[in-house]
Amino acid sequence: MGGQGEAERVITGWAAKDPSGFLSPYSFSLRKIGEEDVYIKVLCCGICHTDIHQIKNELRMSGYPMVPGHELVGEVVEVGSGVSKFRKGDRVGVGLIVGCCRSCIPCQQEEEQYCSKKIWTYNDVYTDGKPTQGGFASHMVVDQKFVVKIPDGMASEQAAPLLCAGVTVYSPLKHFGLNKSGLRGGILGLGGVGHMGVKIAKAMGHHVTVISSSDKKRGEALDHLGADEFVVSSNAEKMQELADSLDYIIDTVPVFHPLDPYLALLRLNGKLILNGVINTPLQFVTPMVMLGRRSITGSFIGSMKETEEMLEFCKEKGLKSQIEIVKMDYINQAMERLEKNNVRYRFVVDVAGSNLD
Ligand SMILES: [Zn+2]
Ligand SMILES: [Zn+2]
Repeated sequence: MGGQGEAERVITGWAAKDPSGFLSPYSFSLRKIGEEDVYIKVLCCGICHTDIHQIKNELRMSGYPMVPGHELVGEVVEVGSGVSKFRKGDRVGVGLIVGCCRSCIPCQQEEEQYCSKKIWTYNDVYTDGKPTQGGFASHMVVDQKFVVKIPDGMASEQAAPLLCAGVTVYSPLKHFGLNKSGLRGGILGLGGVGHMGVKIAKAMGHHVTVISSSDKKRGEALDHLGADEFVVSSNAEKMQELADSLDYIIDTVPVFHPLDPYLALLRLNGKLILNGVINTPLQFVTPMVMLGRRSITGSFIGSMKETEEMLEFCKEKGLKSQIEIVKMDYINQAMERLEKNNVRYRFVVDVAGSNLD
């Protein structure tokens, strides 16, 4: 293994080459390992719904070729001379961002995910002017600030979905003081983030109601995830019973939907926390917010500090994600199934077992 200052490494990832979003093998070089950098062999990487938006240019800011993947767990192969936190052989994780300005107010407050100059793990440009590429690749070079330790005893494929979906739920609940027991929470939509939402909210001691557009996931929600109630949003009678009862709703639905039916479920000061990436404007009428002093807010992943805290919390609570492990050559089918919602929660790609080297 080469040291600092040696040539860039050429590695293989799976990239989308155009907005069809079809992924295929792609060779590219990683930057040299800088002082603060950690060179990581990727073990596995979760597939997030955002990956689909990005590879298909649905947010209209995609650059190609694009290697997606921002829920990766890997093993440290080498570290730069200024890296003290990690050693060769450590199991580590990387989430949605790999850079920030380090001087703005969010950065100073250790909320670097809100830095306006944050650098996305993929589909962005790094400080060296080169495109960033994500976790569906054999290796990555990442600044140590954006690398977290995976707790001992937590399986890599279990940790992967926590790095985006897990912290996405954990962070707002903590920030808004909703991480105390005895609250009543709603989880809208039961995809990757929703699934994690139920698990984390239950682990915090909440009474959790899953609200879904169909009855399809009732058994999964109640029997496998441990939700307390399951309500189909088109069932007016059940929705009426639920009115004014929830302290918060985590809205994970990644497509357009009216907000009024869900605002109506919140009790006084209740919060609707938007977590789904939707590229069309949402709608509501103001009395739904005013009469009940409800708020509509949003939240974006979590800080590196919160990510580490969340991993420890999940380990302590023995929290397990429902995942389906696939190889890299199944990634296009997996993306398609995810888009059609034909998946039990979260795909995790076994990158190390997919012969990318
Ligand atoms: Zn994600
Ligand atoms: Zn900043």
